[in-house]
Parts: sequence; structure tokens; C-alpha cells
Amino acid sequence: MEIALGIHRIGADSKVNSYLIEEAGRVTIVDAGISGFYRQLPGELAAMGRTIDDVEALVLTHGHSDHIGFAERLRTERHVPVSVHEADAALARGEVPNPSKGFGRTKIAPLLGFLWFTLVRGGLRTRHIGEVATFGDGATLDVPGTPRVILTPGHTPGSAALHVGSRNALLVGDAFATYAVTTGDHGPQIAPFTADPSQALDSLKHLEGIEAKVVLPGHGDPWTGGAAEAIRLVRRSATPG
Ligand SMILES: [Zn+2]
Repeated sequence: MEIALGIHRIGADSKVNSYLIEEAGRVTIVDAGISGFYRQLPGELAAMGRTIDDVEALVLTHGHSDHIGFAERLRTERHVPVSVHEADAALARGEVPNPSKGFGRTKIAPLLGFLWFTLVRGGLRTRHIGEVATFGDGATLDVPGTPRVILTPGHTPGSAALHVGSRNALLVGDAFATYAVTTGDHGPQIAPFTADPSQALDSLKHLEGIEAKVVLPGHGDPWTGGAAEAIRLVRRSATPG
């Protein structure tokens, strides 16, 4: 579905997000969600007046399995290059274990809902990425939308936000979420499965000053109240009492 001018999201459900950014007829995909999203890709591209041949790049905000989803299939079948921050390349290739520990606080119904959502979309069949290009902090990527990379370590070491100025959008990956899949809580907050929450909180300062009409998280609905306000709420939700 279209969520901003020139930006679509795969599916109407925002539990797990994969975004399509169009510029001059070419498309960059940001995050590949769950492997079964691949079936929805042609339909979503058609809604943009595009086809899979117009997809030029897949950029990952980090190397978690619910973000690399159909990446390996797109890379091997359609020869679309995949890139991730250098500090998450080994995670995306499956060479190191997930640095996050446990589920944290949970509520059973939303957690089961999330697990079921991923299970029926082939979440257990996610393939790691055979070959992944890397980028560094501050890079402007030579792909449609020309996103600028802002490293926000904490969720994973190589978690990166992408600022797409031409679309007035900030894609934050799991630097923070607007929905917690483990508790069902809505609103800006540190994402579940964050390896180092205090580092993740500290990293938010890098996003604070970014002007973007829409903030797009890896999990949850778009946030249109400005990056600074979202970050204020994340910090508040992380403060005990
Ligand atoms: Zn994640």
C-alpha cells in the first residue's frame, strides 16, 4: 500500500515492514521482511506502475532474519544487489549469531500473533545472504532515492537509518519501533530484540535533528509527528516510572 508519495509498503499489516521507494521509474527496496513477502512483491510493484525489472537495489537497515526475508531469492533470481552496513554483514550472511538475547517483556497474545504472522509467511525458511555489499556511516547510496546512511548501533552493531530527502522520509529500521511485536504496545519505543538498549537510546541523538515528514520503522505504522518528537517519546518510554 502507498504510505507516502513515492513510497509503498508490502502489505496492509505493519507488524513487519518492507518498503519500496520509487524514483524516476526505478525502485529501491528497504528491508526484505519475511521470505513469503516475495509473493506480494509483483502486486505491490504493479500498484506503483512498476515491475520487478525496475528494482535496482535492496538495502537492509540491519541483518536480522525478519528483515532479510526474500533478499537471497531476489539476489539470486533477479540479480538485485543487496547491501547492509559493514558491521552487520556477518549477521546477514549468517556467520555470527543474533546478538540479541531473549524476548524481554512479553504479552502472550501479541507475541503469538507475531510468531504466527512470520510462520505462515515462511519465516522459518529464511535464507542467509550469500553475497552482500557493505556501506559505512554517512554514505550516500547510489541507488534510487539516494538514501543517506546514519549509523545507529544498539539494536544490532550495524543498525542503520536511511534518510531519503527527496521523499522527505526517514527509514529507521529497528533503531526504534512504533509497535512492539512482543507486547502489542503502540507508539515510539525501543524495538524488541535490541542487543544493547542503552546504546540504542544513545544512538537516537544522531536522528534527532533530521527533518522528515514521515518516519518509517521496521515494525509498526508510519510516524508523522517528526523525528524529534518520536525520539522524545522513545526516551520517555525507556525511563522507569
Ligand atoms: Zn531487528
